[in-house]
Amino acid sequence: MNTDKLVIFSAPSGAGKTTIVHHLLKVIPQLQFSISACSRAMRKGEKNGEDYYFLSVDEFKNKIGADEFIEWEEVYKNNFYGTLKSEVERIWKLNRVAIFDVDVEGGINLKKKFGNKALAVFIMPPSVSSLRERLQQRETETPESIARRLGKAENELKTANRFDKIILNDSLSRALQEAELIVKEFLT
Ligand code: ADP
Ligand code: 5GP
Repeated sequence: MNTDKLVIFSAPSGAGKTTIVHHLLKVIPQLQFSISACSRAMRKGEKNGEDYYFLSVDEFKNKIGADEFIEWEEVYKNNFYGTLKSEVERIWKLNRVAIFDVDVEGGINLKKKFGNKALAVFIMPPSVSSLRERLQQRETETPESIARRLGKAENELKTANRFDKIILNDSLSRALQEAELIVKEFLT
């Protein structure tokens, strides 16, 4: 197997990419989650070095200055997110395939950088109103942060055709099946 491959999942916030990526990590053992760095506050249940490398805004900016990122975005004001070069090297040294859960801008940038080595998948929600319901139901966001996330969704949906594959996440079980099939096909 060529492990120098990457699998990228992108979508507007609340579309279900984290749920789908977690499922794939359970059922496809070659995959290894690419842990991004970010400067937002840790949510209940999250662990540093597992969900993200949690950094202060200053620490994040220092790493930008030191050219330590493959890509980074200020996804929301003062909430920086990015993929460290050292992270992809760590995964490739393990002979595993890196799987990314990144915003659409990050997904497009990674795809540009890695070309055919990368499979870029867009998770399409059934509607913008379903994003609101899912974010409310997830109980991780304040009303302001939900509004901020929904404010970006409309434009993010327009980028779907720049991805290799689009998966509609209406029925979760069907979306999980489709994601599994697409990734397995890419890896063989
Ligand atoms: P993202 O990572 O894209 O922000 P999450 O995976 O965190 O999205 O999903 C947002 C919320 O929606 C979670 O509470 C998740 O359990 C729920 N969810 C995911 N897929 C579906 C679906 N098909 N139908 C209903 N709820 C879903
Ligand atoms: P959350 O705060 O919900 O964990 O993530 C917010 C957004 O940032 C999501 O769309 C998530 O996919 C994205 N994100 C996470 N890591 C990265 C990264 O390394 N780079 C980019 N560009 N976006 C990321």
